[in-house]
Amino acid sequence: MYYIGIDIGGTNLKAGLVDENYRITATRKQPLQFTSMEQMGDTLAKMAIGLVEENSVPRDQVASVGMGFPGPVDDKRGVVIKTVNIPIRFMPVAEMFHRQWDGVPVHLGNDADCAALGEYYHYEDKNIESLILVTLGTGIGTGIILNGRIHTGINGCAGEGGHIVLVHGGEQCTCGRKGCWERYASANALIRQTMASMDQNHVKPGFLYKLSRIAESLCRCLDLFFCHGLDRNSLGIYLIVRSDEGIFRCRMASRRSELAAVG
Ligand SMILES: [Zn+2]
Repeated sequence: MYYIGIDIGGTNLKAGLVDENYRITATRKQPLQFTSMEQMGDTLAKMAIGLVEENSVPRDQVASVGMGFPGPVDDKRGVVIKTVNIPIRFMPVAEMFHRQWDGVPVHLGNDADCAALGEYYHYEDKNIESLILVTLGTGIGTGIILNGRIHTGINGCAGEGGHIVLVHGGEQCTCGRKGCWERYASANALIRQTMASMDQNHVKPGFLYKLSRIAESLCRCLDLFFCHGLDRNSLGIYLIVRSDEGIFRCRMASRRSELAAVG
């Protein structure tokens, strides 16, 4: 059997065909061209169908289709509740998908939660029980695993760390609030800041530059978590930062100055 995974990003749509050994056997990528939710549902179904047809995989050999959206979802009802960087509100994705490909189970997740689960199951250190994953892209997504279980909160918003307010009265965010973390440390924000500070065009910051900014803003963000009584030492939180330039893993130490690279 095969599985299909689709990542819905603010810039691109990416789909992968995965076999029973978790190997990605084929991929598809296309720019996000959003005109309506109806068109978006149509595009996602066509992407999945194109992937199996290109690779001569019969549809009945696909056990399920999973999709990661940059926002909270209601997987039981097959509905995306809201995404900040794409104008999606209460979109019945599973129903839309089944109009073109009926019968295959469709599962929805927050994209950072999906990435966190992937890292959790495949991370080389099997003793890790808790981790936070940070995805950098158009915005910032965070996935939280506590004691071996994904932590989504009561409304699916527990991993929306990118919208924690770090700067009161700061830059306007697309979520409606001001001063959110992603306004200062997402890939887009870092590029914007670098362009401004270097006063020249077409500058793309290197991965290390991003990491230094991430570590700085992450410490500020985690301080907010720990202010509420969480003990970073007993949690043993690992941070995994993924972006187009690579993957960086670090382990939280007892003090902010002791962020240590372990992978
Ligand atoms: Zn925000």
